[in-house]
Amino acid sequence: MDSFTYNGLPTRVIFGVGTLAQLPEEVDRLGLRRVLILSTAQQSDQAAELGRLLGPRTGGVHAEAAMHTPVEVTELAVGRVVADGIDGLVSVGGGSSIGLGKAISLRTDLPHVTVPTTYAGSEMTPILGETSGGIKTTRRDARILPAVALYDVALTLTLPPGFSATSGMNAIAHAVEALYARDRNPIVSIMAEQCIAALVRALPGVVADPDDLAARFDALYGAWLGGTCLGSVGMALHHKLCHVLGGTFDLPHAETHTVLLPHAVAYNAVAAPGMAGKLAAILGGGGEAAEALQSFARRLGAPTALRDIGMPESGIDPAADLAVQSPYWNPRPVERDAVRTLLARAWAGEPPITP
Ligand code: NAD
Repeated sequence: MDSFTYNGLPTRVIFGVGTLAQLPEEVDRLGLRRVLILSTAQQSDQAAELGRLLGPRTGGVHAEAAMHTPVEVTELAVGRVVADGIDGLVSVGGGSSIGLGKAISLRTDLPHVTVPTTYAGSEMTPILGETSGGIKTTRRDARILPAVALYDVALTLTLPPGFSATSGMNAIAHAVEALYARDRNPIVSIMAEQCIAALVRALPGVVADPDDLAARFDALYGAWLGGTCLGSVGMALHHKLCHVLGGTFDLPHAETHTVLLPHAVAYNAVAAPGMAGKLAAILGGGGEAAEALQSFARRLGAPTALRDIGMPESGIDPAADLAVQSPYWNPRPVERDAVRTLLARAWAGEPPITP
């Protein structure tokens, strides 16, 4: 008998295999004549391919996107957008490319078409995290939301198995926090459960055989749901910790989510038994949700210790300080000592416990 508020996201979603062929049509539908294609340097060939597909609608390729959306990178790109008379943005890649597209679109009001190729889910959110001077700040604004998310499962086949595992855990993290969000609602909770179920089903298959199109389909479907969850309801302690560690120590985003999630689940399980019960049921095995999640990550060959992904031990205290300075709402109060314990255990790769 809980009352709720639900806001649907207006982003147009196209999902399937071979859907990239529809990109020119989507760009035309928005009336765009000169789009800038955004990617990381690693995906510059793919961006150039999109440029060929778009033909005369292409105003250039800008393959400069970087993780955690540094503002200097955005400012250079905005300069190019203005100088080259660009009237729209097409980002191809994961959260880094899409983040650059969002940052430019927020500053210029240009429409943004995304072609996501990871499971991070940024394409479905009105959220932008930007890094300046070693601090990552996150804001939510309807103008950040991309106009179109064009998912082509075929583009995910090249995502390496290790990164597929951690990126999939990133999507699961969005769903987990949606299950206990202060503004959770029935529709988003259904999507969250479906997201976790799809990824728990798909990721072992993706890791075992990265060319398994059916598993890839299921994983990207789960990722879309996870992104929708993140875009629809608030984030809590887990995302806060990932933003602190990503911004301050430049830790890799998906891996950080993977390592921290079981610890955040253990922290919050006492205050969010509904989330813990649902998660444990999906993961199976009859154990506690947090441990089952860490075992699942291990089974995928994913990292389980912050020290293995570049976090210095000396960073634990400053990170605990930052996490409690301006905490996101969380189902359980965010206490410095408990957060420090959580971070210390995650750093060492210990089993998750309720601190
Ligand atoms: P990423 O975009 O940095 O991608 C990681 C690497 O994989 C890059 O080199 C990329 O070019 C490459 N790659 C991507 N897709 C590939 C493919 N199909 N085949 C081969 N290589 C591929 O990683 P990410 O985890 O997707 O994004 C992380 C960033 O996104 C962080 O900055 C994070 O904060 C942000 N993010 C934002 C939101 C949001 O809602 N604002 C949500 C999730 C992530």
